[in-house]
Amino acid sequence: MIIEDKEFGEVIVRKSALTSGVRFSVSTSGRLQMSVPTYTSTFLAKRFLGQNRELIREKLPLKDPSSQRARDAKKKILMKKAREYLPYRLEYFAKLYGYQYDKVRLSHAGTRWGSCSSNRTISLNIGLMQVPEPLRDYVILHELAHLNHMDHSREFWAEVKSHDPRYKSHREKLKNFSPGV
Ligand SMILES: [Zn+2]
Repeated sequence: MIIEDKEFGEVIVRKSALTSGVRFSVSTSGRLQMSVPTYTSTFLAKRFLGQNRELIREKLPLKDPSSQRARDAKKKILMKKAREYLPYRLEYFAKLYGYQYDKVRLSHAGTRWGSCSSNRTISLNIGLMQVPEPLRDYVILHELAHLNHMDHSREFWAEVKSHDPRYKSHREKLKNFSPGV
C-alpha cells in the first residue's frame, strides 16, 4: 500500500509475514519504503513513520517528492508516446523485412533498450522515444534480427547491417543516452 506523507511524498508500505519490526529503505525510484509486519494498520504505519522522521532524514538518500512527481509525469508521457509509436514502427520493419514476432512489450527503467526472448516476444524501452530516430530504428532492427539469431554472432551483425548499413555509428551514438527514465 501507499501512504501519502507531507514531507516524504508517496511512501511505499510493504507488508511481510517475515518482518517482526519496522524497516525503512529507499525504493529504486527514490521513494521511502517501509517493511512492516502483516497486521500493521495504516494508522500504525503512519505512526511509525512519524516516530522515525529524524532518522529517515539523516540516514536515507531519498529523492524529494517534487522530483519524484516530475519523473512520474515524464514517464507517463513517454509511455503514451511509446504506445502510439513503437509497436507500429516494429510492425513496419517486420513487414518490410519479413520477420514474424509473437508479441511486443514496452518496458521502462532498467538498463536495456530492448530485448528479444526465445518465445519471440520483443521488448522495447519507452526511453527510445527520447533518442533520435535512426538510433531508435537501429534498436528495433537489432531486436528483429535476434528472431533469426539469438546471439551476437557475425551472422547476426551481418543481418543487422543489411537493414541498417550505418549500425556501427548508431550503436556508438546510443551510448550517449541512457534508457532509464
Ligand atoms: Zn542484442
